[in-house]
Amino acid sequence: MDIGFIGLGKMGFPMARRLIEAGHTLTVFDTQKAAMDRLAALGATAGTSPKDISDKVETVMVSLPSLQASLEVATGKGGVIEGRRVKRFIDLSTIGSQMAVKIHDLLASANIVQIDSPVSGGVAGAEKGTLAVMVSGPRAEFEAVKAALAVFGKVFYIGDKPGAGQTMKLANNFLSATAMLATCEAVVMGTKSGLDPAVMIDVINAGSGMSTASRDKFPRSVLPRSFDYGFTTALMVKDVRLAVEEMRSLGLSMEVAEAVGRLWDVVIREQGAESDFTEAIKPIEKAAGVVVGGAKRSHAAK
Ligand code: NAD
Repeated sequence: MDIGFIGLGKMGFPMARRLIEAGHTLTVFDTQKAAMDRLAALGATAGTSPKDISDKVETVMVSLPSLQASLEVATGKGGVIEGRRVKRFIDLSTIGSQMAVKIHDLLASANIVQIDSPVSGGVAGAEKGTLAVMVSGPRAEFEAVKAALAVFGKVFYIGDKPGAGQTMKLANNFLSATAMLATCEAVVMGTKSGLDPAVMIDVINAGSGMSTASRDKFPRSVLPRSFDYGFTTALMVKDVRLAVEEMRSLGLSMEVAEAVGRLWDVVIREQGAESDFTEAIKPIEKAAGVVVGGAKRSHAAK
């Protein structure tokens, strides 16, 4: 299948590479030339703008870092909306249902179908093709692109309501964001009282407290203090804020989500937007006066 792919970052690059490896023909665009060069070396053709790509292919996928970027690439000047050939716009980014509906409505005026397809499973999942892919859009359009999306992982059809895939993704990421902070608090509590955090994580993973935070994030990036999981605090804060907005737009006031949102605001303030989200443990450690993990055995601060 001829596919345009825009946004070749931490997620977009491995997803685009998997499409090439599966035999699809890719035309790619990113504002960073180096990202396009890496894909061109694997056989993709570099485009010059979202419109240029959308003049050439019927199916355009995007993986972009902000709501504004998705809106501009889809509907701005020189955007997908101006393309002569494009029929469908598949957004793999997390943008929330309100923005997805806005883009859906604007593209519909140009007879372009918007398909929501946010993903979960991180950079490792994008590389291995083990993402959860949450698709909403017209059923026939879903069927037309299902095989291409299956290259990314397990594909779920959420429904035909515009934005439904985004609502699903926000529910998932709210849980992931919550488990990360809750696991940080649990392990800092144990460390403060003298438990070994590595043993704690082993026990949690054999017990009922297990989550992807304890199973994947702590062993890989928190206990060794490499803080290199590949998802920025800015993106996590974006997702949590979108989840809280989604709840409020439905007239819901949800206490855990509000508290989790406030804590992630502390993390971004103290660690910075570009920090890895696994650094969420640092403000919690600081408040407790302990450091978890590291090369040596963890220790309680004197
Ligand atoms: P990223 O910042 O690594 O990549 C974004 C890419 O888009 C960059 O290469 C950037 O140069 C490019 N870009 C930005 N504006 C552009 C524009 N106007 N035109 C063309 N290219 C542009 O971000 P990421 O981590 O790959 O995340 C992408 C999306 O996937 C986000 O919505 C994020 O929430 C979601 N997501 C990320 C992860 C993860 O683990 N990183 C997991 C699931 C979902």
